[in-house]
Amino acid sequence: MSYGFSKEKFKGEILDHIRNFSRKTLEDASPQELYQAVAFAVRDVITDEWIETQHAYNTKTPKTLYYLSMEFLVGRALGNNLVNMGIMSSVQEALEELNIKIDINKIEDQEPDAGLGNGGLGRLAACFLDSLSTLSYPAYGCGIRYNYGIFKQQIEDGYQVEYPDDWLANGNPWEVKRNDNAQEIKFGGTVRNYMDENGRLHFVQENYDSVLAIPYDMPIVGYKNGFVNALRLWDAEAPQKFVLRFFDQGAYEKAVEQQTLAKTLVEVLYPNDNHYKGKELRLKQQYFFVSATVQQAVAKFKRTNPNIYMLPEKVIFQMNDTHPAIAVAELMRILLDQEGLTWEDAFDITSRTCAYTNHTIMIEALETWPIDLFQKLLPRIYQIIEELNRRFCMELRDVYHQPEHIIHNMSIICDGQIKMAYLAIVGSFSVNGVAAIHTEILKNNVLKNFYNIYPNKFNNKTNGITQRRWLGHANPELATLITDTIGDKWYKDLTHLKKLVPYSKDKAFIEKFRDIKYNNKVRLADYIKEHNGIVVNPDSIFDVQVKRLHEYKRQLMNVLHILMLYNEIKAKPNGNYVPRTFIFGAKAAPGYTRAKLIIKLINSVADLVNNDPMTKDYLTVVFIENYCVSNAEIIIPAANVSEQISTASKEASGTSNMKFMLNGALTIGTLDGANIEIFEEVGKDNIFIFGLTCEEVLNLYQSGQYNPWDIYHNDSEIHSILNLLINGALSPKNPGLFVELYESLLNRAGDNLADPYFILKDLRAYHTAQKALEYAYLDEVTWNQKAIINTACSGKFSSDRTIKQYADEIWGLKPLKIK
Ligand SMILES: *Cc1c(COP(=O)(O)O)cnc(C)c1O
Repeated sequence: MSYGFSKEKFKGEILDHIRNFSRKTLEDASPQELYQAVAFAVRDVITDEWIETQHAYNTKTPKTLYYLSMEFLVGRALGNNLVNMGIMSSVQEALEELNIKIDINKIEDQEPDAGLGNGGLGRLAACFLDSLSTLSYPAYGCGIRYNYGIFKQQIEDGYQVEYPDDWLANGNPWEVKRNDNAQEIKFGGTVRNYMDENGRLHFVQENYDSVLAIPYDMPIVGYKNGFVNALRLWDAEAPQKFVLRFFDQGAYEKAVEQQTLAKTLVEVLYPNDNHYKGKELRLKQQYFFVSATVQQAVAKFKRTNPNIYMLPEKVIFQMNDTHPAIAVAELMRILLDQEGLTWEDAFDITSRTCAYTNHTIMIEALETWPIDLFQKLLPRIYQIIEELNRRFCMELRDVYHQPEHIIHNMSIICDGQIKMAYLAIVGSFSVNGVAAIHTEILKNNVLKNFYNIYPNKFNNKTNGITQRRWLGHANPELATLITDTIGDKWYKDLTHLKKLVPYSKDKAFIEKFRDIKYNNKVRLADYIKEHNGIVVNPDSIFDVQVKRLHEYKRQLMNVLHILMLYNEIKAKPNGNYVPRTFIFGAKAAPGYTRAKLIIKLINSVADLVNNDPMTKDYLTVVFIENYCVSNAEIIIPAANVSEQISTASKEASGTSNMKFMLNGALTIGTLDGANIEIFEEVGKDNIFIFGLTCEEVLNLYQSGQYNPWDIYHNDSEIHSILNLLINGALSPKNPGLFVELYESLLNRAGDNLADPYFILKDLRAYHTAQKALEYAYLDEVTWNQKAIINTACSGKFSSDRTIKQYADEIWGLKPLKIK
């Protein structure tokens, strides 16, 4: 079933919109006005199917997923919707027939990214929504409608500068406000309890501040199936907006406070990736969207199900990391205080309704909240967590016969802190990691004690990406070549790409594949020319590392390797070198000083190598500012090489590794996260693996048997590039600028190990792998064969596969037939 599209009607709607909303003729409309008109016309095409999908929910009352996530990094909607509706070419025709001179890409460029996320975790949530709709699963994405998404990054004098992302400035044509689903959310105050005539204890929160949560729904269009789910983003409003008269001073102050609370609550996304900061406002955001979602889900359930004990048969809350882990306590509160259930029944229902996805094992990312802050803000929720923990510790003692030190270690509340991961595990029936190796580390190291008592809760769901956006939309030429070669079934089942394997030996196919990669490189070169003013050579190897800037991702190792190449060329200027272009894109958290210094270093190295007459023909370094979903769609299809070089054990999965592979880039990477599974799919000849394994890294942390000075003394090439960091060659005006990076690689600082991410330890092996890669690139045909094999073997990494596994193995969710 497809979306009911009529070209004539569509053209009429565009003309009407320009006339009614812009009060202009088509010729006078600005590109932004054209975008608005096209977006509204497309939304109109979606609307009937959207209503029908919602109607099927109400009549068939299927089990429904609520995917709770603080982040949804959806990017732009227009192009993706056109691909999924299968009307891209019809819309292009309509625009041509209207004599609109600017092409669809330029119109798409008018849409601001919905940047409601930091990086991989938020993008995963967005890919999951696409797959949920495409596979016809009843689901809501539930999050926050931040007024400002992830900051806009500009590079000024080589430094990152942050600007606010006012993504709603021109309105959002996709969203629909749903006042009828507003929920009241209560903060602070006190809890009074009383006993009723039947001897039952009741708890009442009093003197609280409240805000109204108002949902805005955005359509999530399934691929050519007429199935439209909603991404439900909660906005905050003050209650009693229209109270003009206050009875006393106290009422006035409360009203003003509640206005302020509503205003600040959803103002901005916290820009930390894999790093936790215990900010009160962040906890408020978490409770705000979780409480709104849980209240609304229970209310919706109750409209058609009189029996609250049936809730686990009809509702699933999937918690994307611990950010929404408070859902466990909120559902308990509703079942205890509003539904009047016993503790045992409430806990049974809650722990069969909630499920938790773990995204990281890094200590600095684990959320814990100080008791006093938590108790002040959420007094009733705190009581519930305390009781939950009391019973859990009792169970550890009496049922599982755990010794006291283990009980202490596993306690949800410990040393004045609430551990959100433990709350999530205890309150869920499923705990999953996001790649095979990551899940094994959870079971055998980080969460070992929990695995011992709850082995059946633990399971793996290797991440995935949606091929509709990351191939269909981002790489239309390759999408067309693939469809012309093996048909279009890959849009709905990516394993069909396997049929391309024989074509890796077909001369004509290899040439077409090569030409498309070249065209994508030219497209990126144009983008770089426009944005950076740098001319890059499309015949050079495009070696790309785009992801958040984090020490564990080791952008610094990549830069040090570039300096090694620089020194090699300088030492032997008449050698034969393969021209290489190193492309970076990365936002650093605004408070992460060292990450920002690494950005400055990348730009300083760029200045050095791009301008040195001896190296500039062989080495180009480009830092693309403001890495985001929409420029990822230009960057990734142009890559020859995908840099996935995290310290083994640190990158839970990675997902950009999958996007690159799908688009025919070869991975150079460590045996970390999903790289391991990519390796298994493509085989050793089609990937460049180097460096320490997870086991080796974990053992080194245990033993402490690592001294980077040994490498400094024994490897003269590494020795000289480290000296470049401190001899002022990279920062003549400020010779001491990069000393702190040098120090971090060689010396301990307080509790920090020297080179804690093993950059120097892995650098030589990385250099060797890079040499092998360079050599392989020289043989154009075999390189392209390897690239084709990468695309052909990427079927496993579709988020459709991931979502089907969640649905079958965790959620018990069935596709819903609408008609
Ligand atoms: C896929 C994606 C990420 C995640 O990249 P990793 O390399 O897996 O960390 C981050 N940001 C954007 C914009 C993405 O599209």
